[in-house]
Amino acid sequence: MNRSLLMAIALLAGSPLVVEAAAPVTPDSLVAAAKRAAGRDYAGTFLRICVAPDNLNAVPRPANAPRVVPDRATWYAKPYKVFDNLYFVGTLIHSAWALTTADGIIVIDTLFDYAVEPEIVAGMKALGLDPRNIKYVLITHAHGDHDQGAALLQSRYGAKVVMGSVDWDATLQRPETAPGGVPKRDIAVGPEGLKIKLGGTTVEAVSTPGHSPGTLSYLFPVKDGNRTLTVAYSGGTAFNFPRRKESFAIYRDSAAKMHAAVGAAGATILMTNHTEFDGAYDKARIAQLPRSAGEKHPYETDVATVQRYFEMTQDCAEAQRLSME
Ligand SMILES: [Zn+2]
Repeated sequence: MNRSLLMAIALLAGSPLVVEAAAPVTPDSLVAAAKRAAGRDYAGTFLRICVAPDNLNAVPRPANAPRVVPDRATWYAKPYKVFDNLYFVGTLIHSAWALTTADGIIVIDTLFDYAVEPEIVAGMKALGLDPRNIKYVLITHAHGDHDQGAALLQSRYGAKVVMGSVDWDATLQRPETAPGGVPKRDIAVGPEGLKIKLGGTTVEAVSTPGHSPGTLSYLFPVKDGNRTLTVAYSGGTAFNFPRRKESFAIYRDSAAKMHAAVGAAGATILMTNHTEFDGAYDKARIAQLPRSAGEKHPYETDVATVQRYFEMTQDCAEAQRLSME
């Protein structure tokens, strides 16, 4: 109950009421709240954005720095079937997923260009999925670790690429020689979001600017035996955007928006596009183990646990914004 309502009730009742002054909200109080929200579930993410945010003392990468493709042994991961309709085809570091439907496959995120063939194309084939059936490629945001594989999936298989409008604008400014090439503009999602429907499956794209100006997060169903669960897939996490108060406010508001969307959709699974934030690689492997009766899928939590992720990211963003006042 809010304070003015309490006062009104007290006045009506004719009784004196002592309303305790709320403790002031400070960067420290927000970091403490974020730490509580993170709990044991999101401790690593809390460290990354609340304790040592990337953009606090970032040294910009020189524009002409040579590109180094890392040793395959540092990133290659085997593919795994994780839910009855969802397959992990990411690396040790970055996630990519194949969501199967009755009428084709939706790929979510596409990794760096050097990983798209061995992980997404070969990974899908190894799992019995035909990449020619990819109908949509959903990009969370236009950073190379998630979108460099998009042009290949679009040109080779005719998949439609979905991205936030503002991130399309940035993507289309890349030179043709950019790693992975440049996809052609297909489906641009604005602030109002979009529902993507394929073969009886609906993926809801939620516009969540912050990490990039056009970041999209997604809500979609996964099947675990005879149960259908809802995934909230967070589209951008780290604070590696330019350090401006308005940017943190935009990020904060997107976290609040996802918090509400998770509640409305009843999402009980939190996924992100970096394995460090959701333990994707470990959970994908744990999901291969037999489960005892009643044992939950390793990815399944509850709505409150998923919402705590967005409480934490919201508080961390607001702590940074307030610290700049
Ligand atoms: Zn990014």
